Amino acid sequence: MSRGTVLVIGGGIGGLSTAIALRQVGYTVEVVERSPDLHSSVYGVGIIQPINALRALDAIGCADACMSVGYPATAWGAMYDVGGSFVRDMPGARIPGSDLPPLNGLTRPALHAILTARANEVGAVIRYSTEFADLGADDAGVDVSFADGSSGRYDVVVGADGVRSAVRRHVLAEELQPVYIGQSAFRINIPREPEIDRIILQEGPEGMAGFVPIGPDLAYLFYNAQMDRPGRMSDEETLELLREHLAPFGGLTGRVRDTYLDGSSQVVLRPEEALISPAPWHAGRVVLIGDAVHAITPHLGQGAAQAIEDGVVLAEVMASHEDLESAFVAYTERRYERCKLIVETSLAIGEWEMGRLSEFDNVTATNHVLATMALPL
Ligand SMILES: Cc1cc2nc3c(=O)[nH]c(=O)nc-3n(C[C@H](O)[C@H](O)[C@H](O)COP(=O)(O)OP(=O)(O)OC[C@H]3O[C@@H](n4cnc5c(N)ncnc54)[C@H](O)[C@@H]3O)c2cc1C
Repeated sequence: MSRGTVLVIGGGIGGLSTAIALRQVGYTVEVVERSPDLHSSVYGVGIIQPINALRALDAIGCADACMSVGYPATAWGAMYDVGGSFVRDMPGARIPGSDLPPLNGLTRPALHAILTARANEVGAVIRYSTEFADLGADDAGVDVSFADGSSGRYDVVVGADGVRSAVRRHVLAEELQPVYIGQSAFRINIPREPEIDRIILQEGPEGMAGFVPIGPDLAYLFYNAQMDRPGRMSDEETLELLREHLAPFGGLTGRVRDTYLDGSSQVVLRPEEALISPAPWHAGRVVLIGDAVHAITPHLGQGAAQAIEDGVVLAEVMASHEDLESAFVAYTERRYERCKLIVETSLAIGEWEMGRLSEFDNVTATNHVLATMALPL
């Protein structure tokens, strides 16, 4: 018998993970996604999956599939200077009693395909081209209307609609908007060079370059650039700007710049935004997860990891508490400090990369976050 009906608004990484987790504990789950299909809702190139992401994915039956198409690495990363000389190793965290690796990397389309297949397998219904418009809640349920004129009534609504969440205003007392942190991320897929067997960081004079393995033969180059929020740019202009930023680099970054950044390169440029919503993350029967409540800049590769963890914890508390109110209170209690630590540490790493926190030790800060994330959920 179903425990009740849940509408998940947003079919991103967080929404799909939450849908799977809630189905697994017996809820009837519908996901609405405004994009027309699973492919069009995916932006960007690859994704870093730290050990805590893999543990959460394991709980929803997706970790093995991610590792089988990705690149499970034996260590988290290594730091090099701008010229390419080795500086420090970053071994990453382990979870006692678990054989999960410290890191897996894979492409975003592959992750989306895995989550979508699992959501279908456990019986979640996914409706594409369906945009949330409005909701009204009472003590017994939530009435939701969609942009196509359809509507439905549900026991619970999960807002998993990302950093510009429209559900958020139905939960928070005050309007909240993400803040552009003054950095944007360039990313581009390249063939995996043998030394990209973990995250390779190379510290430049004005920003951080890095490499992430996302398959046996595939990796991506990223560069966190200090710049005004990017406006519209042609592909050629974006590529040229990246080449300018990478000009000071030797070592691996210099080699990749000179070998792979040509006219056929597809460079993705994304502004880095941060947001942490004050608790509680629910109002009545409506609850928020993922970037809708904690948008995390990419410096620790933890944004999607936290969205997946949100879904796993939400399902756990909804299955184990007698009433929704105490379940949602427990959810925010278990999630808030953990997400705040990551939002704030990621921001500090960004400030340090932009030369504003000279005393900051980013390797120690990263190690602390990785060790904390490996603690029990
Ligand atoms: C440059 C960059 C690199 C990153 N790299 C990593 C990384 O390596 N590892 C990592 O863990 N995290 C990373 N992140 C963060 C990660 O991408 C996000 O934290 C994660 O995607 C959040 O998932 P989400 O499901 O909460 O939101 P989203 O992925 O934004 O999904 C929200 C979904 O809701 C849909 N939607 C929105 N409004 C509506 C509506 N009204 N009706 C219906 N549907 C709606 C959207 O179409 C979308 O599909 C990175 C972020 C950036 C910017």
